[in-house]
Amino acid sequence: MTARPEHDAVTILQSARLRRTAPRIAVLESLLASDGPLTQEQITAHIGPRGPNRVTVYRILESFVAAGVVRQAFLRDRAQHYELAHCCPRHRVHPHFTCTQCGKTCCLPEVDLPMPAAPVNGFLVSRQRVEWEGLCPSCRQSPAAD
Ligand SMILES: [Zn+2]
Ligand SMILES: [Zn+2]
Repeated sequence: MTARPEHDAVTILQSARLRRTAPRIAVLESLLASDGPLTQEQITAHIGPRGPNRVTVYRILESFVAAGVVRQAFLRDRAQHYELAHCCPRHRVHPHFTCTQCGKTCCLPEVDLPMPAAPVNGFLVSRQRVEWEGLCPSCRQSPAAD
């Protein structure tokens, strides 16, 4: 799998003025390879036993959030799910689709959900999170066997 050049791990670190380290690159590459937000545990598992441990992955994710490289997509089962910020700029929020059959969550960046720039009835919106549920393409083709 090849990432688009402007979205490779080293370029992301450089544009955020973050030092290039192997653990940081490994965390970014896990997020780049995924089609949906990942938890700290999923990232640690994706990198494998030779990579940074969970605590290090957590610290890296927090520093990425502070630097605006990564955003917290949603919280589920008390686990924060992280995604790259560039796939979801502040004013172009996409829904996160969870399949009710296989449980997989994907980003749907094709769906543009504009956020109101001006206050609505006096309420100023600063963040929008949209979660959709239904059947993913592969579950639609093969309904549950049992
Ligand atoms: Zn599914
Ligand atoms: Zn997303």
